[in-house]
This record gives sequence, C-alpha cells and structure tokens, in this order.
Amino acid sequence: MNLTALPAFSDNYIWMLDDGREAVVVDPGEAAPVESALDARALALVGILVTHHHPDHVGGVDALRKRLRGPVYGPAREGIPEPFEPLVDGDEIDLLGLRFRVIDVPGHTAGHIAYFTASGPQPPVLFCGDTLFSGGCGRLFEGTPAQMHASLAKLGALLGDTRVCCAHEYTLSNLKFAREVEPGNQALRDYEAWCVREREDRRATLPSSIARELAVNPFMRCTEPEVVQSALGHGATGDTAVEVLAALRQWKNDYR
Ligand code: ZN
Ligand code: FE
Repeated sequence: MNLTALPAFSDNYIWMLDDGREAVVVDPGEAAPVESALDARALALVGILVTHHHPDHVGGVDALRKRLRGPVYGPAREGIPEPFEPLVDGDEIDLLGLRFRVIDVPGHTAGHIAYFTASGPQPPVLFCGDTLFSGGCGRLFEGTPAQMHASLAKLGALLGDTRVCCAHEYTLSNLKFAREVEPGNQALRDYEAWCVREREDRRATLPSSIARELAVNPFMRCTEPEVVQSALGHGATGDTAVEVLAALRQWKNDYR
C-alpha cells in the first residue's frame, strides 16, 4: 500500500492511499493534483474521504466525481457537497481491503471526523484533517478547548506507530511555538532540526506518528510541568489540562 502526500494550494496535503491499481484520497480541496497523480500512475479513484467542511478540504470533490468509482464519505453533522455517505463516531468502512474506523474529533469544526485503520500489514494510518498537526492543533473555529482536548486525547490513545497524516504542512511554525512553550524538551529540538532539513530538501515533514506527537506537541502535553508553567505565564486561568490547552491555543493564535 502506498501513502502519498499530494501538495495543494500553498500548504495543504491531499493524502492518497493506493494499492497500485486503486486509490482513495482524503480532503481533496482541489482536483488537479489528484487528477495528475491518478493519471501519472494509471490509478482508479474508488473513494473520497472528507474530514470536515472547509473549502480547502472539499473544493475538489465535485470535479472528481466524474472519475470516481465509489462513494464520497463525510461527517454526518457537516454540510459537505452532496451526495455523500454520512458517517458518525464508531462507523466502519472498507476501502482497498482496509477497514477504517471513524472517530469524532470536534474542536476545529463542530462535526470534524478522523479516519483510522490498523487492519493492514503496515503501521496504522490516521487521517486527522485539521484536528492534529505535527507540533500543533487546529484553530478552534467552532469548538471549545474542552472538545479539542478530548479529541486530542482520543488520538493520543491510538497505537504509537500510527502514521499521522495531517492536512497541512504547518510543522516548522508549530515547532517554533512549541519551543517557546517547552524550551527544555530535547526531543522537540532534535525533531525540529530534522524537520528543517526535510523542508530545505523540499520534502514533507509528514506523516508524523502518535508517539512523536506525544513527545513534542505541547497541545498533547498539557499536564507536563513545563507546559503548565508556560501556560500559566500566558493567561491560563488554572492548571487543568483544558485550561492549559485554552491558554496555549489563544497564545498561538497571536504568536508570530
Ligand atoms: Zn479546516
Ligand atoms: Fe484546512
């Protein structure tokens, strides 16, 4: 099974999973990068997975329907281009011989879902849209800090070697902020140095892994003493994980 990040717009990735004959794509905000990738390798498009309703994730769906031989799947509680198969937490879908489980991850948007599979011979795969980024998390456009904290906790409980397929290349700016939050985290510094080299060579920093995010991502480390202290110095109203996450998110919104 091949897992490929197709660059789109300025910093989106449209993830493509294929077995050499058939492919599924996740969050096609535009059609052209998907069409080129399918044509280049003579792949049939057999499914589209959508995590949430934002235009940079659904903009290419309708244009891809003419070559789609299979369903569009999306979150039941969001308005995405019709027709689509509505999914809720716990639903399972079979694609390319893999069984994907749907996980509700509200916060960035109210009905955001993620797709997880551990059914293949290779390490598990998570398509998490704009919920979890490497070193960060999505902005809270429609949800609360408590929802985002619960969503990240669910993802953090997945297998450590899960390949984390985020929808944006935000890693370097996230890690710069993370270093501000947790200057004593050596794993974070080592990872940042590696990511700088990847970007210099024009490679994606993704996929990440759950184990790595638990080690470097301040939004998944809201009970670490250094993270708590930094949050308390930047407006946190208390030291609970939700209050810490709320303060980090606000701080990051204003951080350049
Ligand atoms: Zn979004
Ligand atoms: Fe996005």
